[in-house]
Amino acid sequence: MKDFYLQVELNPGFKGMTESRQQQDIVIFIAPPGAGKGSISQKCIKELGWEQLSTGNLCRKNIEKGSELGQKIDFAIKSGRLVSDDLIVAMVREWFHENPDRDRTVILDGFPRTVPQAMAFKAMLTAEFPLTRVRVVQLKVSDEELIRRLTSRLTCSNKDCQQVYSLLESSGMIPKVDLECDICKSKLTQRSDDNITTVRDRLSNYYRHEEDLLNYYSSVGWSIIQVNVESSLDKVFDQFKSKLDV
Ligand SMILES: [Zn+2]
Repeated sequence: MKDFYLQVELNPGFKGMTESRQQQDIVIFIAPPGAGKGSISQKCIKELGWEQLSTGNLCRKNIEKGSELGQKIDFAIKSGRLVSDDLIVAMVREWFHENPDRDRTVILDGFPRTVPQAMAFKAMLTAEFPLTRVRVVQLKVSDEELIRRLTSRLTCSNKDCQQVYSLLESSGMIPKVDLECDICKSKLTQRSDDNITTVRDRLSNYYRHEEDLLNYYSSVGWSIIQVNVESSLDKVFDQFKSKLDV
């Protein structure tokens, strides 16, 4: 396979930096929409003291800083294009260099989204952070359950709130008053892409990417840990902790 890392525009300022001295743990979730990745990540942060690196937030921060990277990202977004793999990887790389020697496990959120991103990330770790241990957590859930969850989801119509609720008893996210947001009292609506036809499309699209990423992760020897997420969040989290030995 071609090494995409070579295409990444590297910031020359990093040359000669000392590499991280202690092992860094990284967790990558691979999960379809509605599997509960967000809830599990929140528990990892609150209960295990982990941190989350979100590429969405990184984009915003870089734009705010007005750095060279930020300007390029801002330009891509304003011209209606996707932020390129090169820019995303360069931004993640910068974050790892600016935050060396952490003892906290880092969850990657929104990254790697594609195999080229994963390849560039792997190349960077091998070259610059060889002590890193990456574990991939695959959340397993049947399509029927995902469809049930996604089509039972309601979102607050207030753009500044957007709190998510569920009509399922098991979710623990039922609104106190029917169709009204607990927080801001605005009306709750179903997202237009949470209907059954769109959900099926989103899932089949998702599985195509998932397969490619999983094949790549196993080809580079990253361990893939499967967690079944069809029970309650507490049970899922117990299973998660025991499988990752944390
Ligand atoms: Zn609200």
